[in-house]
Amino acid sequence: MNREEELFDVTIIGGGPVGLFSAFYCGMRELKTKVIECAAELGGKVHFYPDKVLHDIGGIAAITGAEFIEQVVKQGKTFSPEIVLNERIHGLQRLDDGAFELTAESGRRHYTRTIILTIGHGVFVPIKLEQAGVEIYEGRQLHYAVDDIERFRGKRVVISGGGDSAVDWANAIEPIAVKLTVVHRRDEFWGHESSVTRMRNSSAEVLTPYQLDLVAGDGDRIEHVTVRHAETNETLVIEADEVLVNHGIRGDFGGIRGWGLAFDDERIVVNAKMETNIPGIYAAGDVVTHPGKLKLIAGGFMEGPMAVNSAKAYLAPQEEVAPLYSTHHDKLIAMRG
Ligand SMILES: Cc1cc2nc3c(=O)[nH]c(=O)nc-3n(C[C@H](O)[C@H](O)[C@H](O)COP(=O)(O)OP(=O)(O)OC[C@H]3O[C@@H](n4cnc5c(N)ncnc54)[C@H](O)[C@@H]3O)c2cc1C
Repeated sequence: MNREEELFDVTIIGGGPVGLFSAFYCGMRELKTKVIECAAELGGKVHFYPDKVLHDIGGIAAITGAEFIEQVVKQGKTFSPEIVLNERIHGLQRLDDGAFELTAESGRRHYTRTIILTIGHGVFVPIKLEQAGVEIYEGRQLHYAVDDIERFRGKRVVISGGGDSAVDWANAIEPIAVKLTVVHRRDEFWGHESSVTRMRNSSAEVLTPYQLDLVAGDGDRIEHVTVRHAETNETLVIEADEVLVNHGIRGDFGGIRGWGLAFDDERIVVNAKMETNIPGIYAAGDVVTHPGKLKLIAGGFMEGPMAVNSAKAYLAPQEEVAPLYSTHHDKLIAMRG
């Protein structure tokens, strides 16, 4: 067979936290590993919240999203897996010898004996405003994610949305904004109760049930937004310097949808060993569903090693699948010096 690329034991598709921790664990199990990520950088969805403080990563009391990315990328690179960025995988073919040929949108092909899918929600894009022409403010005063919270300091900020992100950002921005208005089309917010209470008790003006109707400006800068009451249609004009829209994200699995994997409600169905319905293909993290699914990084960090152990058992059925203590791992001891 004429392969233009090397054959890997495991190819991990998706370089978010779960893909990276799986890459680390592949190293523990001495598997030749490649990680393919369609974005320009590793870290997955955590890039949506670099300034948010995470308190629920086991063993770490508090860490910002940005610091967490730094740590998980470092850990993922421990055993020097091959890492390919800016590569979106969409095609799959099983070869005569049982290996898989993966095709990227670039046309490049990758060869692997097993696959671990850690693709989260697929390629995620924020749900944008439908208002015609509003994109001229994007990347200026209209935001769908926050890359630098400091841009809101001393500004009149409007946040539209009612989920975790909107509530978390409201709490983070309220202390530094000169005025913060939160607009949500329902009366209830979906954030953690304590976060919602904190937001409601802050100086933020919370307008519900209102929806963002119009973002208006002079073509260079946003000047105000118009919000509409969901029931009475009454409108209010709010002066604004910056607008943050958190209307959720939409995932797109692209060609992976057509691989023949069993899906349930936009999630890949796996068993307790993180096996999909296709032998040799495993999945972990936000992309999977199973009866005990915990949709948190902590849950994915259990599923990743399970998927790796299953891949190892598929490749070397004679080898015992046993928990390994990293402290006793020869390569890690050598690295410690
Ligand atoms: C605002 C917000 C706050 C959160 N707060 C917390 C929290 O406090 N605690 C917590 O535990 N969790 C939190 N989460 C959830 C947490 O971020 C996810 O559970 C975690 O990122 C899942 O990791 P993952 O690796 O499974 O998927 P992701 O992080 O989604 O990574 C998937 C990766 O796969 C890539 N990819 C997708 N399709 C392809 C393809 N075809 N080819 C190549 N690459 C592909 C994507 O680009 C992405 O980088 C939060 C999420 C959000 C949005």
